[in-house]
Amino acid sequence: MSDKTNYQNEWDIFSQYKFSKNKSVKRIHRISKELVQSEFVSLDQQHQFLNKKLGVLVRNAYRDVPYYRDLLEEDLVAGFNLEKFTELPILNRATLVTQEKRLESTSPYFKTQSRVTSSTSGTSGPPAKVHIHLPAVQWFSILWLRQARWFRYDLSKRYARLRLPQQLRKKKSGEPLAMGESIITPCWQVIGRIVKTGDEVQFSSQNDHEAILNWLEKSQPSYFMSFPGLLEELALSNNLKPLASSIESYLGVSSLMTQPMRDCLESAFQAPVHENYGLNEIGLVAARCSFGRYHIHLEHAHVEVVDEKGKTLPPGIPGRLLVTGHNNALMPLIRYDTGDIASLSLGPCPCGITLPTFENLAGRYYRYSQTPEGTRPRVNGMLKAMTSLPHEMLEGLKQYQFHQKKGKKFMLYLNIDSEPREELLNLLNEAWKKLNPENDRWSFEIKKVEKVHRSINGKVMDFYSDYYPESQRAQASQSDKI
Ligand SMILES: [Zn+2]
Repeated sequence: MSDKTNYQNEWDIFSQYKFSKNKSVKRIHRISKELVQSEFVSLDQQHQFLNKKLGVLVRNAYRDVPYYRDLLEEDLVAGFNLEKFTELPILNRATLVTQEKRLESTSPYFKTQSRVTSSTSGTSGPPAKVHIHLPAVQWFSILWLRQARWFRYDLSKRYARLRLPQQLRKKKSGEPLAMGESIITPCWQVIGRIVKTGDEVQFSSQNDHEAILNWLEKSQPSYFMSFPGLLEELALSNNLKPLASSIESYLGVSSLMTQPMRDCLESAFQAPVHENYGLNEIGLVAARCSFGRYHIHLEHAHVEVVDEKGKTLPPGIPGRLLVTGHNNALMPLIRYDTGDIASLSLGPCPCGITLPTFENLAGRYYRYSQTPEGTRPRVNGMLKAMTSLPHEMLEGLKQYQFHQKKGKKFMLYLNIDSEPREELLNLLNEAWKKLNPENDRWSFEIKKVEKVHRSINGKVMDFYSDYYPESQRAQASQSDKI
């Protein structure tokens, strides 16, 4: 979303879209139209909408889903209203894994319906499968189109996608893209079948930085999507300059972007850096506007923020982010604990869109879970220090990573071409000193490395800790996000 907007504005943009005449697109077109309207409705109307949607979801779940049939109280279901919603039990990932079969609707209706199976990607145990019926799957395209409008994409232009080979279009032979190979699809991957778009270039995120930068320079896309961590590495590899002169905006997906990362990217790219929020289990949940708030796709998901005991928190107070998907009656996930933290926003968003918002999406609570107290301010402080260094000091720096060892020991790994400058080391040591009070000094060492630690799924994290329990170390990859 760019700056301030209103219904007329959004409608004017929407009416330019050339929808496919295909019969199956009719429903998508109709819903997409309705979405423009619901972006500006009153809180009262939203409340009524949720009351109805969640009521249907809960009643159907109680009737058709064995897990909820046993778990929910009949009285609560019969007299359901939005206020009572917060009394329903929270569903965590461990339960999703163990109750997978019992969370599926037994309604005969779904026997004949097409479905797509998505999976949570916890690597510590067997991932849970989430079955999504086709109309719910279509919500992914519907909401992607909405965010394309919010991000002010010109659909006729070229899109570039840099992701893992299995997330990209396969080659004609059915093989995934190999290293160095690029593919051009005639339309954008997610919405190209619904509306007319320009073409899309795709490349594997496993290629090295130089190959990626060459590919971008050659392809000259207008929009570029990849993982936030990789965007940051590319910015550093490219001496904090825009990755290609043609790129008008960037999109970071799949993992969270910290504020220091965002500051670094925006200053390097001199272009908007967009973000969305979603889960494989539910789909797209929200998109970030230029005022830094995540607008919830209320028509598809309901978001709550609760404390450790599951009690609703007022706006401004960070807590666990719970998401309920409205549109997948085949396997309803009610009050699903995403493992992320955020706070609900206070008051209306200055951008003009009235859909509810959350903010301060500050990484998952595992990020600091089981780490000694004092870890968070030190890590945040050092990440900030890293990104506020003068650009020339970061010359030759490809990657950096903080590692917490047992016994209050911190390491900073620098993957850098030459020996780090004395000046750089001094500044970093100085920054560390400031973060450590006299009576609680933790040790800090800077080390030049060839490679930084990668999580199991190959993503790079700017911080990881030896205090993480085994199960959380696997989750630290954040790989379960879209
Ligand atoms: Zn906004």
